[in-house]
Amino acid sequence: MIFLTYGDGMSILDTIRYKGKIIIAGPCALESRAQLKNCVKQLKDSGIMAFRACLWKPRTAPGWEGLGYWGLYYLLEETLPHGLTPATEIITAEQAKLLLKGLRSYGDDAKMIVWIGSRNQNHFEQKEMARVLSEAPNVIFMFKNQMWEDQKHWLGIYNHIITAGFPKDNLMTCHRGFAPGHFDNPEKYRNLPHFEMAVQVRESTGIPMLLDPSHIGGSVSNVYKIINEASRHNFDGFMIEVHDNVQGAKTDANQQLTIDQFRELIPLLVGDVQSAYINR
Ligand code: PEP
Ligand code: MN
Repeated sequence: MIFLTYGDGMSILDTIRYKGKIIIAGPCALESRAQLKNCVKQLKDSGIMAFRACLWKPRTAPGWEGLGYWGLYYLLEETLPHGLTPATEIITAEQAKLLLKGLRSYGDDAKMIVWIGSRNQNHFEQKEMARVLSEAPNVIFMFKNQMWEDQKHWLGIYNHIITAGFPKDNLMTCHRGFAPGHFDNPEKYRNLPHFEMAVQVRESTGIPMLLDPSHIGGSVSNVYKIINEASRHNFDGFMIEVHDNVQGAKTDANQQLTIDQFRELIPLLVGDVQSAYINR
């Protein structure tokens, strides 16, 4: 196995921190090259290091499923040359192989964040993805919690990935809430957060825990509420949906922030309370 060091004992995860936090922002889905260009142009000087845009979109009901493999060239070409680390979800190990092939053409230093979404709970596939990605020392792998509330299952995903040989130093997880089912949901969250469980999973695994307020909230006003509620739990970072044309978004239009809304939020995300107050 090859180990990359980033100087001063920095890990690959440290290279994507902004003021100490790992912040991944960008649209739910990659819709076109123009959309991507526009979002990157407006976000690249905001300080964030990682840019999300999904190529493959698992859907609750049949609908548009993303640009798929054909969007990969756009994703890499519109982020890496601008110093941003691209981030995207994969559903199969085959997709992991395609991403690595594309990433390699940008040289050994090119980094990428790849994640497993909440709906994707076939552990054979999870292990195979982890095995494939462990061959690339510059890939950061992230797994979200599954859709239903169960700490044992969430920890199980971690153990499957580690058992498959993926290095812990390049691994992180993300809390995106649990499907409400029959629980009370007075705030009408899309998915219910369980901050205490997230804290326990971080403690048991020892890997960074990000928060995805977009898929928990389901609406812009709820995204703000969740970020405020989460502040006392000291998450290691955030993944947030941001779109350059929210009304025209092909997926998750209700919960995506405008670029300006997101830029205003950054001080709050990094715990810079004074600037966050001035921005309000
Ligand atoms: C996403 O982040 O685009 C996504 C589909 O999230 P989740 O797996 O949490 O539903
Ligand atoms: Mn989404």
